[in-house]
Amino acid sequence: MRHVRRQFAAVTAAVALSVTGGAVATPAFADPRQTEKDATATGYGGAVSTVDPEASAAAIEVLRKGGNAADAAVAAAATLGVTEPYSAGIGGGGYFVFYDAKTGEVGTIDGRETAPAKMPTDAFINPDTGQPYLFTTKDPELPTSGVSVGVPGTPATWERALQRWGTLDMGEALKPAIKVANRGFVVDETFRQQTLDNKLRFDTFTSTQDLFLPGGDAPAVGSIFKNPELAETYRLLAQQGTGAFYGGPLAEEIAATVQAPPVSGDTALPVPVGFMTTADLAAYKALDQDPTHAKYRDYDVYGMAPSSSGGTTVGESLHILENFDLAGMAPADALHHYLEASALAFADRGANVGDPAFVDVPTETLLDPVFGKERACEIDPEAAASKPVAPGDIETYDGACPASAAPLADETDTENISTTNLTVADRWGNVVEYTLTIEQTGGSGIVVPGRGFLLNNELTDFTTVYNPTDPNRIQPGKRPRSSMSPTIILKDEKPFLALGSPGGSTIITTVLQTILNRVDLGMNISDALAAPRAAQRNTANVTAEPAFIEAYGPELTALGHTLVPAGDAFTSAAEIGAATAIEFGDDGLLTAAAEPTRRGGGSAMVVSDANGHKQK
Ligand code: GLU
Repeated sequence: MRHVRRQFAAVTAAVALSVTGGAVATPAFADPRQTEKDATATGYGGAVSTVDPEASAAAIEVLRKGGNAADAAVAAAATLGVTEPYSAGIGGGGYFVFYDAKTGEVGTIDGRETAPAKMPTDAFINPDTGQPYLFTTKDPELPTSGVSVGVPGTPATWERALQRWGTLDMGEALKPAIKVANRGFVVDETFRQQTLDNKLRFDTFTSTQDLFLPGGDAPAVGSIFKNPELAETYRLLAQQGTGAFYGGPLAEEIAATVQAPPVSGDTALPVPVGFMTTADLAAYKALDQDPTHAKYRDYDVYGMAPSSSGGTTVGESLHILENFDLAGMAPADALHHYLEASALAFADRGANVGDPAFVDVPTETLLDPVFGKERACEIDPEAAASKPVAPGDIETYDGACPASAAPLADETDTENISTTNLTVADRWGNVVEYTLTIEQTGGSGIVVPGRGFLLNNELTDFTTVYNPTDPNRIQPGKRPRSSMSPTIILKDEKPFLALGSPGGSTIITTVLQTILNRVDLGMNISDALAAPRAAQRNTANVTAEPAFIEAYGPELTALGHTLVPAGDAFTSAAEIGAATAIEFGDDGLLTAAAEPTRRGGGSAMVVSDANGHKQK
């Protein structure tokens, strides 16, 4: 078990410098700050895994005081909005999955951002050039914009989750996050590096400079970062509910910020303005949804239905792989099948999945084991198919192998690596898997002035150039297709494993690969999570972490795969995902697993350790 005690624990924090959105540094006073991190925690009475020790501590505090998994998940998510503000927050959206121990049922909430009612279908085309706004590290025109901001779904998701499954009100659930925002958290290398990676974008907006680039630089590692403006915004939600976000002065400020972002004088970026109005905010609804279901070996796998492509794509991949004895294969052969199945499912995702309120999504077909069986015919155990592979025939399939389809033109995938994920279980057996995001790290780069949070750039998940046959084309009021894949797996009708990850479209592959590592390749959950990753999203190359290339490169290359090192164009990290999971053992034993190293390592905690001692 890896146990990290950071330099700035409670006592040393007393002398650390304090950064408050650009204020002059002042000494902070001693206050317990959660900086210890374990990648695995085993015990009883409740558990949590997130990327951040403050967020995990918030969940544990709520669980200890008698709150349930839904309460603790909202508390942790709100805390992540403070400590991981570039990944998630009330300016974004996400998908919340809940296993209800009383009913044995899985329910979900779709809290995806929506396009404004007045968003034109050519919104991402620069009128000056007739070409799409640029989306590169050097010229991040599209992601740094008002036009990419969708109506946030996160406050409504929290409210709906608490109403449906929780025991606390919003005020109670937000308390730990308000505390962390006020007293500050210790800046680590990940936070500083993410700020530096976004310097060009953050420097584009005065409000973002003020909050995240105090004195013109990213906050120093070891300093204390406070966000009293966010604490105030949370307090508003705590006192008045989400009506104070989707209406009233804050809604007016959000709409005004999207329509006229607070651009700093010296930016070279064009900053296309957005179309969001207060009416769009007032109309927003987080949606109750049935989960997707796939049967894989002895397991029932529940995930997120469209507007996310997570549940259908993970589920279809599993149904394809169900036809092969992965456990009986050499690891590289099993991974070959994993990569091929993923490519096939991504082909079907691209052709069929969008927001079901706007396009017909054949969810049942994509999750039909017979369809999966037919798609499995496309896998040659001894050779990688040429990519991209064609989508399957969703109209006439019967599980029999069809004549091979011709390859298509190559596709690109512009999604980025950001977002955050959390897993919570409580003493009653309820489970939450929740993925939330503001799209890319740093979202749109726009802080709502004086309110302490970033707005998302989720609408960049739409296909950039309008094509009337593309299910993910821009349409006003629509939710862009997501890849978020919060997943809860039951065995014999009891929770077996809950997991999820950030990482754009690699979310799907990370969740899938982790399931295979655990179920087929004989790893325990901690090893399954830590194992090196690769993603095949129906593109010519397989994106892979360096350790994966080292371990399996020669064998997979011999099978015809082209492996290239992972690396988000906008960040320096050569890694895929930052997953969290909880596995459910006998007699209430919980194993919470977080990343040992990715994103600087995550934080797994349990309420009581295996000896019945409360974890500190
Ligand atoms: N926008 C992505 C999605 O919904 C998530 C952001 C990310 O992880 O990069 O799939």
